[in-house]
Amino acid sequence: MTAETVPFFPPDLFEADREALLEAVYTAGTAADQKFILGERTARLERELRARLGAADAVACSSGTSGLTLILAALDIGPGDEVVVPAFGCAPLASTVISRGARPVFADIDPAALTMDPAAAEELITPRTRALMPAHVFSVMADMPRFRTLADEHRLHLVEDSAVAQGGVLRGRPAGRWGDAGVFSFVQVKTFGMPGEGGMVVTDDTALAERVRMLRNHGQDGRNRFVHHTVGYNSRFDEAMAAFQLHRLDGLEDRLRRRAAIADYYSERFAPLSEAGITAPPAGGDGRCHYVYTLLAEERDELAAHLAAHGVHSHVYYPRALPAQPAFAGHAPPGARWPNAEDAARRNISIPLYAHLSDARVEHIADTVCSFTDREGRTR
Ligand SMILES: *Cc1c(COP(=O)(O)O)cnc(C)c1O
Repeated sequence: MTAETVPFFPPDLFEADREALLEAVYTAGTAADQKFILGERTARLERELRARLGAADAVACSSGTSGLTLILAALDIGPGDEVVVPAFGCAPLASTVISRGARPVFADIDPAALTMDPAAAEELITPRTRALMPAHVFSVMADMPRFRTLADEHRLHLVEDSAVAQGGVLRGRPAGRWGDAGVFSFVQVKTFGMPGEGGMVVTDDTALAERVRMLRNHGQDGRNRFVHHTVGYNSRFDEAMAAFQLHRLDGLEDRLRRRAAIADYYSERFAPLSEAGITAPPAGGDGRCHYVYTLLAEERDELAAHLAAHGVHSHVYYPRALPAQPAFAGHAPPGARWPNAEDAARRNISIPLYAHLSDARVEHIADTVCSFTDREGRTR
């Protein structure tokens, strides 16, 4: 037993940036121009991310979810259209498609990567399919080279849900730049999270970026106020948060490296556990993004209880496959099954992974997971 507990969601994510946060809010809040959204700071953050990614454009918006919605709207996806999405993942993958009046078509996932299986996605393409929308999951990028080829072959749009994958690079190409457009989420727990809501659309298609820019602010073009060219959304970005994110960009590479180092240590420690029913993601490698560290465990709930008894909090992301959610079940073909998605929902468990975890805590977490497999009375 240990006296201290290790939270899964740390309450002190921004403690080290306390002064910068206060300064960002104060400066934006008291600036002479009194422009609290879509001002100079937001524009600077867009330019910084665009340059870092080598993208043609980056458009800040109010969340990752609304980023996906803006992209789907900019691609004119709506009633009668189908979008192939993974059967395992977060709700916006289905809800953004439905909110456009289109139909999400759920494809099963790869059992190890937990990302959408390109072969399963290909089988679901019909004449109504307009786009493929794979997502990077936990710490693994989707097989974007195959999705890019598939989209090109079938003349489909490729919408990349890279909400969690900031810093990920696959074959030299950053996450967010494999699709016609990609998104990032800045909600607090994400890799480049902040204390508030926000997101970013990135794209190499300047015309698409222009439409997203217009859609995020009620269909206006940014020059003529109160001229609405198209039916848009309110999905704008906050100046105080932009100032804070500009400050936090400086340490981003270091935080990403620290996350990767912790994940690699975990994977090394957990590699021998596969015989005991615990499967860890592979260490390091190309196409990885260290957002969440997720194990697949046969005795998932017992492992969670064991961790909790030793002060380590864990979390189950997505206890159900998306088509098994009450909100989305009506959009799935009756009786259809997604065996790999269902299996991932049953077995996934995530353990703490954040840049300010101390080495001692990382070691304690790893020890505790390992001790589960040689505890007394275990059944396997
Ligand atoms: C977090 C997340 C989103 C949504 O981002 P928000 O900023 O919370 O709206 C979308 N897709 C995936 C895969 C995510 O993890």
